[in-house]
Amino acid sequence: MTQMGEPGRPGERPTPPRCGWGRRVLPERTGPGRPAKFCSHKCRQWNWVAQQRAHELALNENELVVARSELDRLHDDLYVLACAVDDTERDLESAGPGASAAELRTMMTWLLEACRPLRDREISAADASPE
Ligand SMILES: [Zn+2]
Repeated sequence: MTQMGEPGRPGERPTPPRCGWGRRVLPERTGPGRPAKFCSHKCRQWNWVAQQRAHELALNENELVVARSELDRLHDDLYVLACAVDDTERDLESAGPGASAAELRTMMTWLLEACRPLRDREISAADASPE
């Protein structure tokens, strides 16, 4: 049985099972039954839809159809995050080692605001039915 605290290579932790769609770490399973492959019904459904779509288009298992709007939203959030990281790095640099708790709190708040959309981001499968 593998435990987190087991000695291994430094800094290495065993990789926990992840959702087959959203890649989030799956909750630890207790009790009988097959181990879960998805974190939610929604993820299972999106994965199924994506597989159907890939099959229709004769894509291989590593290719995926994603709606442009989903990708745009993801890129928008990544851009906001990148700007926030740059701002925070610059603010930290200019505040120096004597930064006050209030200054650090302001920086952290701004950074968290930029991170939250990505934390909550879910990417749906492209709709298989063309309009
Ligand atoms: Zn999931």
